[in-house]
Amino acid sequence: MHLNPYGADVVNFAAELANHPPRSADELAGCCRAAGLVLERPVEPADLGRTLAVIDAWTRVVDATGEQERAKLVNEMLARSAAYPRMTDHAHGWHLHYRDDDQPLGAVLFALISVGTALHLVSRGMDRLGRCAAADCETIFADTSRTARQRYCSHPCANRDAVRRHRARRSPS
Ligand SMILES: [Zn+2]
Ligand SMILES: [Zn+2]
Repeated sequence: MHLNPYGADVVNFAAELANHPPRSADELAGCCRAAGLVLERPVEPADLGRTLAVIDAWTRVVDATGEQERAKLVNEMLARSAAYPRMTDHAHGWHLHYRDDDQPLGAVLFALISVGTALHLVSRGMDRLGRCAAADCETIFADTSRTARQRYCSHPCANRDAVRRHRARRSPS
């Protein structure tokens, strides 16, 4: 498992899973490979169930109202999944694992997403998770921008909303 939990990869991967939940162990394996994760063992149906539980817990973090609630929910995820950090060099050089060795994929993802989200929020800002501001879109995004002003999931949503607001201003009331 080689996503750097300090970078943007983990929260973007979590958002991808939340926006397009895998429907089978095979699909989950495909999502992981697409994200650049090295799978150390076959993905099993139990991994899918555990991953969907992570996504549920993570979606509640996204939809939390206020920093305190958000922190409480992340802390609950950490308590359920993460172990003390330890150094490992099993591949690609030395890095930290926040889990015990030889865990199934579902447990690895739970620890990775919990820790990656905690690091994202404390380093970039507690408000850096959200849903698209476009009226017709609920897509979740993690704001890893330098300006910290992301409000839309994508350029098409931002453009569509800009056009809509422009028309609303011009129409006589
Ligand atoms: Zn590793
Ligand atoms: Zn959107």
